[in-house]
Amino acid sequence: MTDATPHCRFCHALLTEQVVDLGMHPLSNGYLTAEQLGEHESRYPLCVYLCTACFLMQIEAVETRDTIFDANYAYFSSYSTSFLEHAQRYVAQMIDRFSLTPEQSQIVEVASNDGYLLQYFHGRGFNVLGIEPTASTAKAARGKGVETLEEFFGETLAGGLAKAGRQADLLLGNNVLAHVPDINDFVAGLKRLLKPSGVITMEFPHLLQLIDGNQFDTIYHEHFSYLSFSTVERIFKAHGLTLFDVDELPTHGGSIRIYACHADGPFTVGDSVAAMQAKECSFGLLDRDIYRNFSQKVQTVGRELKAFLADAAAAGKQVAAYGAAAKGNTLLNYCDVSSDAIAFAVDRNPHKQGRYLPGSHIPILAPEQVWQTKPEYLLILPWNLRDEISEQMAGIREWGGEFVVPIPRVEVF
Ligand SMILES: [Zn+2]
Repeated sequence: MTDATPHCRFCHALLTEQVVDLGMHPLSNGYLTAEQLGEHESRYPLCVYLCTACFLMQIEAVETRDTIFDANYAYFSSYSTSFLEHAQRYVAQMIDRFSLTPEQSQIVEVASNDGYLLQYFHGRGFNVLGIEPTASTAKAARGKGVETLEEFFGETLAGGLAKAGRQADLLLGNNVLAHVPDINDFVAGLKRLLKPSGVITMEFPHLLQLIDGNQFDTIYHEHFSYLSFSTVERIFKAHGLTLFDVDELPTHGGSIRIYACHADGPFTVGDSVAAMQAKECSFGLLDRDIYRNFSQKVQTVGRELKAFLADAAAAGKQVAAYGAAAKGNTLLNYCDVSSDAIAFAVDRNPHKQGRYLPGSHIPILAPEQVWQTKPEYLLILPWNLRDEISEQMAGIREWGGEFVVPIPRVEVF
């Protein structure tokens, strides 16, 4: 242990337990232009720690958030059909369950991206406010009529909004809690922005599923924390918020949606809370052993993917990748994959086409390239969308093409 030993971003204890060291990686969302290929590409350690005081699994923040979520940030939620359907279902459920009305209810979403979700509240006449620091997505949201503040969320911003009468009846944030470097400032902001009778919902990938499904490719620099229900409950409690319900969701390989209110709020804690606590406890999330085994499982997938790519190359078979998702980059760079092993990647997002994956420098092309080149294998990097993608791309069967998913184990189908 040295002076450089990091501290837990929630409870500030020293992080002495290393879970897995994935090596040096460029930023997962740092898609490169052709001109940038010849330039120096910064790499940063991707080392996962467990706080043995509060059991928050986390990585060290190596970059400022401004660098990670800059104006070129290319993730647009609206490019995934299943994600839009998920958002639409959520909106209908919340309106029904919490009796939200356009006349009375203020809806606020933190990390509202391109308005993929708030557009459905807006369409039903609700007063909506999105908070989204990324310029390109915020602009797209405004194009959908979604009022969007181009800011990072925290206690200061929340305090200002609360004073301006913008406290929320429904305050939501999907896939953002794991991304915030200062989780205490963020949750304190949620507390400030919530009306006395309001509800917070937050969705995030479940640590239990990450470990159980060997989803180590979801570990990248933009994800600072890997969250369990129990640890999030502890963090919210420290800020005067109570978790009163939890849902399990299939999104991102297995997420949970938590429901929170003020500690003195009007909601009764449901049975789901004790059930989830028991589930996490019996799985072993509060023991160190499960984290130690995880490291072994990560190394196994690394060996399997390298062997698959070597065999394909030896047999003269071409491999292309589908989906230039951030998570694919952790996997490819952990396995030292280059454009020799994977000729190209395709993605529906036009903002990514014409660029190159960070680290591996694999070119990103439009999906049509698959029909022209006819690769023998299509490696689905966003394996959580394997059904959606294998259906869309089923045409590869015509030339005997097969799909490959890397996680939880390498599988050809
Ligand atoms: Zn801690």
